[in-house]
Amino acid sequence: MTLTIDRNAIDGLKAQIVLSDVIGQSVRLNRSGTWMLGLCPFHEESNPSFAVKDIDGRYVCFTCGAHGDIFDWVAHTDNLDPKADFLKVFRRVQDIAGDHSVATALPQHDTAMRGEKIKTDTEERRQKAIRHWRKGRPIEGTKAETYLRDCRGIRTVDFSGMPFRFIDDHERWIWCDQLKKPVMVGRWPCLLTAIQEVVPNADGKHRFLALHRTWFELGNPKNPQGKVKITYTEPGGKVRKIARKKIDGDWFGRGAIMLTGAGEVQATTEGIENGLTALELGPYKHVWVSVSLNAFATMPLLPVTRRLVIISDSDSKSRRDALMHQEQLTGAMHRQRLDHNVDVDLKPAPPGYDLNDWHLKQLLHHALATGQ
Ligand SMILES: [Zn+2]
Repeated sequence: MTLTIDRNAIDGLKAQIVLSDVIGQSVRLNRSGTWMLGLCPFHEESNPSFAVKDIDGRYVCFTCGAHGDIFDWVAHTDNLDPKADFLKVFRRVQDIAGDHSVATALPQHDTAMRGEKIKTDTEERRQKAIRHWRKGRPIEGTKAETYLRDCRGIRTVDFSGMPFRFIDDHERWIWCDQLKKPVMVGRWPCLLTAIQEVVPNADGKHRFLALHRTWFELGNPKNPQGKVKITYTEPGGKVRKIARKKIDGDWFGRGAIMLTGAGEVQATTEGIENGLTALELGPYKHVWVSVSLNAFATMPLLPVTRRLVIISDSDSKSRRDALMHQEQLTGAMHRQRLDHNVDVDLKPAPPGYDLNDWHLKQLLHHALATGQ
């Protein structure tokens, strides 16, 4: 008999597991801010570049690029194929979580092989992301343009041709553990950004891989940067902070937010607002957003690029975080040099800031000084 497993069941199981507890049984991990760090079990190394983030339920090695969730980890440790042996992997994860609530319901479903199902799931998520994307409209003249220009100080950059769209009153859904179902926590204006495959396909197009969404608010005098605070009160009364940014789709190691075409000197930032600030302030003409710190190491480059400039954030909350951040950047520079035979420069934002924060502070100083 072949079976299918609901996406919600998978997410529900993941939420019950502290990934670092599981990985910590075979890899010695040390806490560093929100990360747990250790020697990578996927490649030989003497300095730790393997990180586990329990909040996201994911691990990543910023040297070899190995990454995944509890399902990938179990498949790796039990020497199983994450797709073909999915049901075995799933049962192992259930054992770890001590939750077999889904298993009893399983035989009622009867569809295709699980391996195929995962492929379909990934493609389904991509298609769902594309449907959101299609609902969006160009950002010129919308609240998204106002957000970028007025809240983020991106005053002169031409947004036309950039992979941006806008949806007003866009719903933010999250997974609720107690209710074991997704719940809608509110609606806000939303900037949609496409994460595209860097290497173009045969007809020169960059495939849509994933959707990045930024919910924001306008007109709150207490929040001039537009960073909307989203919370969810669980049935038990516990208040959860919800991220105002979300990525849907499978893009790691293949994609970037390509604000411009590729250049001989290619600049890259972690976040969208920082990438736009790099264009606003110059001298960079070719800027891509890697989307995350981890992705600096694995973001593909095109052959035209001779030099990569990593514009990093300098807003770590603690000295430990800063050290960890620095190690990741060093790993990323090393890996990019090896993989793409390019020169790599690191241009950190001024201490205490990311590039956009710093830019906003300069604008504020200027406004105060000139009375504008
Ligand atoms: Zn590794």
